Order: sequence, then C-alpha cells, then structure tokens
Amino acid sequence: MHARLRTTRLTALAVVVVGLAATDAIASAPIPRAKPDLPSVALAVPNAAIIPRRKPGKPSSAEVPARGWPKSTGAWPKSEVLAARAACERMLSGLDIIWRPDQPIGEPGGCGTPAPIAIAEVAQIRIDPPATVNCAFAQALHGWFSQSVQLLARSRVGASVAGIRNASSYACRRRNNASSGKLSEHARANALDIAAFAFSKKTQITVAGGGTGLLQKTGLSANGNFTTAVRKSACGYFNTVLGPGADRYHGDHFHVDLMKLRPGRFKMCR
Ligand SMILES: [Zn+2]
Repeated sequence: MHARLRTTRLTALAVVVVGLAATDAIASAPIPRAKPDLPSVALAVPNAAIIPRRKPGKPSSAEVPARGWPKSTGAWPKSEVLAARAACERMLSGLDIIWRPDQPIGEPGGCGTPAPIAIAEVAQIRIDPPATVNCAFAQALHGWFSQSVQLLARSRVGASVAGIRNASSYACRRRNNASSGKLSEHARANALDIAAFAFSKKTQITVAGGGTGLLQKTGLSANGNFTTAVRKSACGYFNTVLGPGADRYHGDHFHVDLMKLRPGRFKMCR
C-alpha cells in the first residue's frame, strides 16, 4: 500500500518533470527530489547515522531501547535527556519520517533542547536542507504535511509537494533577531521557516510570491490559493503561524512554531 502510493506519486512527478524539461530555461535553485534511501543526507547532516524511516503502521517501538542517540547529555540533567529521548521515540514511532538523533543543545533555561533531531524527510516531503527540531515539532509537521499540505497540493495545484525549502530551524536568538526580549521558538528547536514548496525540479511556489515552471505558465503562484490555504491549515497543527503581511519580518517565508500555550496565551495565526 505504502510502496504503491509512493510509486504513483513518483510517476506523477516524473510526468511533470518530463513535461517541463524541454521548455523551462529559468528556474530558481531547485530542491532535488527525495531518493528512497536519501544517501546525500548523511553528508548534509554529519556526525551520526541516519535512522531509517519507520514504515507507517508498524507496531509501536516504545519498548525498544533508543538507538543511535549520542552518549553525551551535554549541559542537561541526564534524566531529563533520557526522558526526552524516550518520549521522542514514542512520538515518532510509526510516522513516515527520516530523522537522525542529535546531541543535546544548550542548557535548561536558555537556548536549546535536550533531545533534538535532524529531519530530512517528513511524510515523503524532503526538508531542504534538513532541519534541527524537537520531536513534538516533527510530529506536528508530519500531521500538517500528511493531513493537509499534500491534499491541498493535489487539489489546488494538481501535484504532490516533493520538498520544502527550510529557511531556518534551530537558532539561538531572540524573537525577530532583536537584541533584547523573549527567546524565539527557534531557540528551542520548536520552529521552522518555510520559504518555498517544490513540486518537481523546476516547479516550485515561493512564499514570497511567484511560481516557477508549470505553475508560472498556468498562472498559479504563491498569490494563488495554494499558499493561502496551506497557511490557514497550519493553524490546526501549530500555535504560531506567521507569513507575508503579518509583520515586516515574515515577508518571504511562513514561520510555524509550537509555542507553549499557557493561561492567557492563545494561538497566533496571522
Ligand atoms: Zn521563524
């Protein structure tokens, strides 16, 4: 079932690529289409082996000891790191994600997170370059991609999304790069900035506006209803969604994060 779906998707993409190859001279840097085993990611994210994708529908591996996590627990209490890793394995169990465990980042109360991972592909959408996030964020991204983004892509664009352009994931900084104020959710590996959605090598929709390849020819662009619908749908999975028009910092990308909602703090979707 899974393999057949993937084959169908790849075939559909191949048709788009072949159809475009002869006529498209101008295109911005494409996101290469994900390969089944994604060997290049090992180069893009050094330091450890990639954990193979777990097939959807496989039984939970919660009892299986964590594999591949670094020995170091960094500046975090060991118990907190081990608990976060176990929670991560449970969260991602059975999800269609290619990910690799990473070293703990930072320390409690500051930048960082105890059990970060690098995600290279989520619900068969390649993350280019791979993003450093926490596991709850990866889980939310999987939900958004698999339940909303791909359905919207097929219904509004007529093709599946093959990759997204990651403009920023983990970064130890304050909100909007200010010199003072609250830490950004990026500083907790709890956010992702998406600059473009790629459908094939030559066809992508940038959040800033404009499509390339087939999308340009057919008049579909970032101003069309795909990005509008995708942005709206993100609010069902994340607690903050910002994009062009929200403020002067988000004119060329979507920012999505899982900011903790405390009493009096509500979702922000602009
Ligand atoms: Zn952001």
